[in-house]
Amino acid sequence: MKKYAMIICGLLVCMLFVSCASGDDSEAQQENADIQTYRYTGFAMGTAVMETIYSSGADPTTDVESCLKEVEEKWISWKSEGSEIAALNKNAGKKAQTVSDATADCLSRVLAIAKDSRGAFDPTIGQLTRLWDLDNGSQVVPEEKKIKELLKSVGYEGISVEGNKVSLETGTSIDLGAAGKGMGCDEVKKLLSQDPDISGAVITIGGSSIMTYGSKPDGSPWSVALTDPRDTADYLGTLTVTGEQYISTSGDYEKFFMKDGIRYHHILDPGTGSPSRSGLISTTIICDKGLESDALATACFVLGKEKGMALAEAYDAEAVFVDEDKQVYMTKGASELFELTNEGYQYSQPQ
Ligand code: ADP
Ligand code: MG
Repeated sequence: MKKYAMIICGLLVCMLFVSCASGDDSEAQQENADIQTYRYTGFAMGTAVMETIYSSGADPTTDVESCLKEVEEKWISWKSEGSEIAALNKNAGKKAQTVSDATADCLSRVLAIAKDSRGAFDPTIGQLTRLWDLDNGSQVVPEEKKIKELLKSVGYEGISVEGNKVSLETGTSIDLGAAGKGMGCDEVKKLLSQDPDISGAVITIGGSSIMTYGSKPDGSPWSVALTDPRDTADYLGTLTVTGEQYISTSGDYEKFFMKDGIRYHHILDPGTGSPSRSGLISTTIICDKGLESDALATACFVLGKEKGMALAEAYDAEAVFVDEDKQVYMTKGASELFELTNEGYQYSQPQ
């Protein structure tokens, strides 16, 4: 339920605007008379996918779902036998493997963020993620000894990409969990842009990554609700964006358990091997690429307020952060896009 708050809210807001599209403007109505609204809810990348697509052609929603499944199975998933990442992991310590242009490009971009965040985002964290096993609902704090042991496997420096040749040092394995949904959004964008009949779309993957594309039939902006990190059935506020944007949120409320008053969540600090305690509880990134929005959201969560803001700015991304005192911090650009509506939170500075 909590996982889907952002999705459902996003969809409801979309629906609201769709109904607005049938307003009084008869000229606009005439022009857009042949644009259909296609809505679809499916499952891909281990999570719910919601689509609203405006097109004057055939229904493209199942193509989008297939595209995401293909990204997951053939490309990203370390679990899927046939994926390029699984093949790289299997050949760690051996000679360099040749990968597709798409994988080489993504790995280079992922490594750039790992480097620029000084390892706060690290795509080699997979073994620790599996130790904590929050994806499968584990509620056990692993032994410190085990954490220390697996920390030895963490280090993005163990991945080397030269053109299409990729090699991994012995013991290194890649897990793109923190960037995969954004990568999926990038691929969907490529698919949508090949179809000139599609004039606009909102694609939501798992509630934490959203892509807006083109425009709505009535030309009004896209509206995306952000989840209240301490009451996931409620909203924090609304982002209003136009055209193509990628919005990703990382939060300590997505997958967690409480023990002795401590929240153990799924965003790990690669320095300690345990859930990150940077003081932030939710980080949202808005930028012009999916992979970057997703990976930066995770990186900023671990880096904390000051360093996270500096990293977002270095990537020309906009950011909305929430800290454990329920203060909301934003880049200058984000303050023009985000409206806080939840009275339980405050802007860190008067707006
Ligand atoms: P979500 O997948 O819930 O949208 P994120 O994008 O923040 O959230 O990704 C969290 C996932 O990324 C974790 O479940 C784990 O697989 C992986 N991960 C956790 N911590 C890190 C980290 N510091 N760097 C890279 N990947 C991480
Ligand atoms: Mg992420």
